[in-house]
Parts: sequence; structure tokens; C-alpha cells
Amino acid sequence: MVATTHHTTLIIGGGSAGVSVAARLRRAGITDLGLVEPADTHCYQPLWTLVGGGCAPLASSVRPQACVMPAGVAWVRDRAETIDTDNQVVTTAGGTRIGYEYLVVCPGIQLDWTAIPGMGEAVTTPWVSSNYTYELAPKTWEIIRSLRSGTAVFTMPAGPIKCGGAPQKIAYLACDYWRQQGVLDDIRVVLVLPTPSLFGIREFADVLAKVAARYRIEVRVSSELIEVDPDARRAVVIDRVTGATDDIAYDLMHLVPPQSAPDWIKKSPLADPTDPAGYVCVDKHTLQHTRYPNVFSLGDSSGSPNAKTGAAVRKQAPVVVANLLSVMTGQPAARQYDGYASCPLTTARNKMLLAEFDYSMRPHPTFPPRLVNAQKERRDMWYLKRYGLPLMYWNLLLKGLA
Ligand code: FAD
Repeated sequence: MVATTHHTTLIIGGGSAGVSVAARLRRAGITDLGLVEPADTHCYQPLWTLVGGGCAPLASSVRPQACVMPAGVAWVRDRAETIDTDNQVVTTAGGTRIGYEYLVVCPGIQLDWTAIPGMGEAVTTPWVSSNYTYELAPKTWEIIRSLRSGTAVFTMPAGPIKCGGAPQKIAYLACDYWRQQGVLDDIRVVLVLPTPSLFGIREFADVLAKVAARYRIEVRVSSELIEVDPDARRAVVIDRVTGATDDIAYDLMHLVPPQSAPDWIKKSPLADPTDPAGYVCVDKHTLQHTRYPNVFSLGDSSGSPNAKTGAAVRKQAPVVVANLLSVMTGQPAARQYDGYASCPLTTARNKMLLAEFDYSMRPHPTFPPRLVNAQKERRDMWYLKRYGLPLMYWNLLLKGLA
């Protein structure tokens, strides 16, 4: 079969992962580099938590995609639809066939709005929102600041999601606002988590338990939202340990949809056939595909078992680039990713603790704890989240410098 175009190296997805890998490859002198990305705007999604919490303007989370695309990269403004690994061809929604010798796959994660009955309809009503989309994040702040009494429900789905801390961060920002307004005592706050505790690492779970207690949040662990009745404003929550269900009447709800690999990736030869979530099947250290050595994947669509965050992308991009350059010269992929990820947990409107960890699920602090103990709530960490990390993202990460 003949492809209509060809790039020696092709990247699918121009989000955090795709742009930083492209920038690093260009810095390494790689030419004939194509990048498939349908969106005209590039989003810095971590800011959406602060947008929903009324602490940052939505406009500061976006820039034109053209401004972040590294010079010398051929931008294919289209959506990849299929990958033919035998013939090394990617086909786009517009019908273009692009041949490749090396492929980097990073089209992000899919939000499965229909996975929970009533959820998709609920977010169109005036009482429900989600920080997980650009359009809805400002609505979260509107409904938080309008609430003066009643019941507020914050949910997190089971399974991997991007930024596992985001479902609870917005609950803390909301509670701190209601506390400042003097209405927190009149609001019942329910936080529904599928996990057995507030965080998978005890050191951080202990701090968060104190934060939740401070706001008198009713934390439902090992529990999940299984149905929403948007007309009656009722949320059905199941306790996975006892099997008991609870029908909660809400006045505000912040939803996080279940997530999985994009459907077209699930159906592609790159997915792990044993994993129903369908992520790209890579070695968790080298990020090289387990069956196709000319294919790499990183970011949210990769099947490596790290926490899906931009922080993970920052550590994965140099590994993918080093290993890709090795494979191009016939060397083995030797550089290893250790599973590093971090979660800046905003616990108040001026405080944050920075959970950093790796595959060992032990704390992995960047700052020496004797100098900066980022495992407790700190005001300087808040400034890092609000101003430092966005600056680093736009000026260093996307330019392949961090
Ligand atoms: P994305 O950045 O989502 O990029 C995927 C790109 O692929 C997009 O540009 C998309 O348009 C494109 N694409 C999609 N389909 C196709 C296709 N078929 N063909 C070609 N291109 C396609 N991370 C942190 O580190 N810290 C945080 O505090 C944090 N907070 C978050 C809060 C929220 C509310 C959310 C939603 C995310 C947060 N994250 C956080 C997670 C972080 O944003 C993601 O982990 C990161 O963006 C993953 O990068 P990616 O390149 O894999 O995916």
C-alpha cells in the first residue's frame, strides 16, 4: 500500500507529551518530524482545578497550538484514526495516509461520559459541573460561589484517571471558600472515592485526612457514583465493601467521568488485548512498545502503571527521546523511567502539599525535606502551583528544556 505522505518520525498528539517530545527531538537534530494534532488551542489542564476553584482565569490555561509547536515540525492538523503497524501507516479522519519509520503515540485519555447512567445529562444542568473540560471548569466556580446551604457531592470514578488528586482538590478549594464566606456549617460535603483511603501513600493520606476533618467532609471511601438522576437531583453511591447503596439528594455536584484509552487506540494493534482499558502496551521503564520496537508511548494514553500526570510526562519525555535515538542507530533502548509522578494537592485557597512518588509508591521529594518539607501544607507551594509550574510548563517543558 502506498502512503500519501511520509515522515521518518511521526508523533500522534500535540498535548504535553507530544510537544515536549517534538521539541527534544528537534534539539537533538532530528529532521523530517511530523506531528498529528487536530486542536487549534493547547491547554495547560492542571490550571483547570484553580479555574474551578475561582483562583485563576480560564484564559491563562490556553495558548494557540501554533505558538507551542516547535519550529521545523510538520503539523498535520487532523485526527489520527487508525494505525497499520504492518505497513507502518497512520490514517487520519481526513483520509490522509502517513507512512512512518518511528512512531510516538500520545493522544491523551478519553472521558467516558456515558459510562455512568445520567452523568452526561447531569453536567448540562445548572447544579453539576466538572473541572475535566475547558468548557465546564468556569461553571464549577459559578456553582460553588452560588451555594449557601445544602448538600455538595464530589466524586471520583474507579480506574486510572488523569490527575488522581483533582477530584478531591476541588472539594478542598470549595470548602475553604465556603469557610471564608461563613456558610460551611450550613453545607453538608460528601466526597466519594473508590480508593480505601484519601491517597495511595500513607504519608500523604494522613495529612489529607486532617484536611478533610478540618472541613468536616464526609469521606466515603471504597465507594463509587453509579447513577445520577439529573431531574430529581439525586446521586446513587455504592459502598463496594458492604454493597450498600445510598441515594443522596444534592444541591451541587462536581463529577469526574471514568476514563480509558481513546476508542481507536483500544481497537488498534498497539493496545494490550488483556487490558479492557485499552492503553498502549509499553515496557514500563523504557516506554518502548512490547511488540513493535519502533513504537513508543508516553503520557495519559500509555499503559505504563504510573499516575497519569503532566509531572510524569516531564520525566518520560527525555526517556522516550533517548531511547528513540538509540533505536534509530541500532542500539537497545536503555534509558529507564522510574515511574515518577507528582500531584500538587491544593488543600486551601493559599496552601498546597506536593505529593511526589514513583513506582515504589514511596515519597520521592524533589526538594530536600530538611530545607523544604513539601509533604505538609505550605503557602510557598501554592505559589509554585499557581505561578511557578505554569511558567515552567510554557517556557521549559514545551520547549524540551525541562
Ligand atoms: P494531553 O495533554 O491531554 O494531550 C493529548 C493531545 O492529543 C491533545 O492535544 C489532543 O487534542 C490530541 N489528540 C486527541 N486525539 C487525537 C487523535 N486522534 N489524533 C491526534 N491527536 C489527538 N497533571 C499534573 O502533573 N499536575 C496537576 O496538578 C494536574 N492537574 C490536572 C487537573 C485536571 C482537572 C486535569 C484534567 C488534568 C490534570 N493533570 C495534572 C493531568 C495532565 O494535564 C495530563 O496528565 C497531561 O496533560 C497528559 O499529557 P498528554 O500529552 O498525554 O495528554
